[in-house]
Amino acid sequence: MTTNTIKSRFAPSPSGFLHLGNARTALFSALLARPEPGVFLLRIEDTDQGRSKAEYTQAVEEDLRWLGLNWQEGPSVGGEHGPYLQSERDTIYRNYFDVLEQEGLAYLCFCSDRELDLTRKTQLAAGQPPRYPGTCARLSPDEVVARLQRGLQPTLRFRVPPRQVVEFDDLVRGPQKFNSGDIGDFIIRRADGSPAFFFSNAIDDALMGVTHVLRGEDHLTNTPRQILLLEALGLRVPSYGHISMILGADGAPLSKRHGSRSIRELRETGYLPGAINNYMARLGHHYENNAYMELDGLAAEFGVGHLGRAPAHYDTTHLLHWQREAIVHAHSDVLWQWMGAEVHALVPEEDAPAFVAAVRANVIFPEHALKWARILCTDPLELNDNDARQVISEAGSAFFEHALAGLERHHADFKELVNHIKQETGAKGKALFHPLRAALTGELDGPEMTNVMPLLPLERARARLQACLEMADCK
Ligand code: GLU
Repeated sequence: MTTNTIKSRFAPSPSGFLHLGNARTALFSALLARPEPGVFLLRIEDTDQGRSKAEYTQAVEEDLRWLGLNWQEGPSVGGEHGPYLQSERDTIYRNYFDVLEQEGLAYLCFCSDRELDLTRKTQLAAGQPPRYPGTCARLSPDEVVARLQRGLQPTLRFRVPPRQVVEFDDLVRGPQKFNSGDIGDFIIRRADGSPAFFFSNAIDDALMGVTHVLRGEDHLTNTPRQILLLEALGLRVPSYGHISMILGADGAPLSKRHGSRSIRELRETGYLPGAINNYMARLGHHYENNAYMELDGLAAEFGVGHLGRAPAHYDTTHLLHWQREAIVHAHSDVLWQWMGAEVHALVPEEDAPAFVAAVRANVIFPEHALKWARILCTDPLELNDNDARQVISEAGSAFFEHALAGLERHHADFKELVNHIKQETGAKGKALFHPLRAALTGELDGPEMTNVMPLLPLERARARLQACLEMADCK
């Protein structure tokens, strides 16, 4: 890796499925590093053993791969800075805890949760921001030993240097300035010995050579703490960019209530990865180009300068727009697979490309493809649509007599069939096309009939026209 190669990362905590919010963070990070020779790294932040589950780690990996957000360094693929699961990096963390403790940059804290809670409440009541008051920072070595001998389980706190100004230029939000005096000494190792987020997250970014951290704006106030920690250890500080939140239509942070679903649920509904990527890429990032793009295109026009500071708004209609676009652009084989087993069981395999071509413009989800597979590939036709029945009755029996004769002569050639009926009956426009479509598909709208005809076996088309002839007769 050369010195100015971009290395970005996604660092999820595996405590649930990937949602639009964190998937968008992953997408932006992946796009940032996509141009060669950039590196997109995946790190699993599973130090909180109570909340982390191996099944979520696996699910996150699967969902990222499904979106096409492949990582060049991380679990399953390896790399020179592994392991990439924080739960396997204990020895590394222990070394840095020792360094910090030996140099007096961190100290053991024996305060109980009850004591800390009480201090917090007192500070809040006095109108002060809650901050650790430094109680254990002043313990003598003897006092520390005495407490350890009593069997107390201490946490380790980072000693925040007093009277320092922490400044950084946020990639999204511009220059940021914090006073160290406003930051209380914070926990870097929990009482159970596990590393706290502030610590392992920052150390790993530095050790793994991450150059750019894109993450949610809820982490903005964590950044000065992490910078102080890295500076104390003489480790390299990455550039940070804090991405705006995603809000629902009511202005509240996006949740299930707004119809937001996990990437997994979206996939199960039938959304295509390209639809989700194109949608997410424009949630809080401005693209001049409104065309559907593959990841390379999205990456070529991605820039942190186009990331907005204002919150982004979730809108299902936009997601549906990109779903339609993704279908228009998908390869025929991809759409065939996407349509699923029920469609495959109905449509003869040799008809697959013709079927996909015929219905592509009329489907948004696989269930729509299934509807057309049933219409075209099963008997008999259910005429549930009253308007379609009416159109058939109005066309009259003579129309269908000529249609049947035309069918025998021209088979799947819809143009010729139409010409035949037109010549024989004088019908034109809607009066010509509507009854024919209704009779053959049971619907008044749908795919181009020229594409539909070759998918309807002659027998089936004949039976349908015959049924309509009888129906129109009984009028
Ligand atoms: N594990 C953290 C989270 O999921 C990562 C935050 C970060 O990207 O730095 O919120």
